[in-house]
Amino acid sequence: MPEIGEIRAHAERMAEFAIGKELKTFRPISFHVLKTFDPPPETAHGTTLQSVDTRGKYLILHFEGASFLVHLMQGGRLKPDEKQSAKPRNGQARWTFADGTALLLTEAGHDKRAGVWMFPPGTDLNTTEALDYLGPDADQIDEEALAELLSDNSMRLHGWLRRQRIIAGIGRRLANDICHEAKLSPFASTKKLDSDAVHRLHEAIHTCIDASLRFEREQSEIVASAKRPSAVHNRKGEACPRCGDTIREVTYTKYQVNYCATCQTDGKILADNTTSKFLK
Ligand SMILES: [Zn+2]
Repeated sequence: MPEIGEIRAHAERMAEFAIGKELKTFRPISFHVLKTFDPPPETAHGTTLQSVDTRGKYLILHFEGASFLVHLMQGGRLKPDEKQSAKPRNGQARWTFADGTALLLTEAGHDKRAGVWMFPPGTDLNTTEALDYLGPDADQIDEEALAELLSDNSMRLHGWLRRQRIIAGIGRRLANDICHEAKLSPFASTKKLDSDAVHRLHEAIHTCIDASLRFEREQSEIVASAKRPSAVHNRKGEACPRCGDTIREVTYTKYQVNYCATCQTDGKILADNTTSKFLK
């Protein structure tokens, strides 16, 4: 899933493509993609795109007549629509502009979970049901607030970093790389982190998000996650870029935790949930 860096770089691309354009029509292509019924799409027609914003892993298109909140989920993409075919492959929704160009929201895969929400202009989207569960954007909190959120929500660090209601914008790749950058175990208990650990974590969140934003700005679109640079994410068996130790992995059904034992766990090998019961 695109994380905060990918989404922000993509918002910049969308801004460059469409700011100042007048919306001719917004048309949901799949029945369930538009999650709101009021205001109706027509309220945005004939009005101009003012800005493109982000919040966590969401994109926001602010037209004079309405704001569109877009969540790409895992396989969703929002791109200039060159073909504008009647039945676009994986098509979910289309914004057609008065100058003849268009943006198409597509979603690959079986789980159609990408969504679009519409709000009247000027709505504080953070107060809406779509976004009010979200914690602050991960790189918008100071060290003190971070320390508080860590001790108030006691859990393993890797899971904590990905919990959007605590802090928003971090997914599996950033969680792996942030733990490595901060030299913290992905399984560290968040309430037991001392002030030095919190300081390193705060720095690591910024370092990793900034690096990801820099990379994404050089791409022409959101690239497949395997193509994104990473220190440890998806690098099981490779050498740690910091110390040369072998990067290890704990596998779960839907994702894996990657880490360097030398850098992050004082050499301790973390139990692999899927196999450790057979080793006892
Ligand atoms: Zn290492």
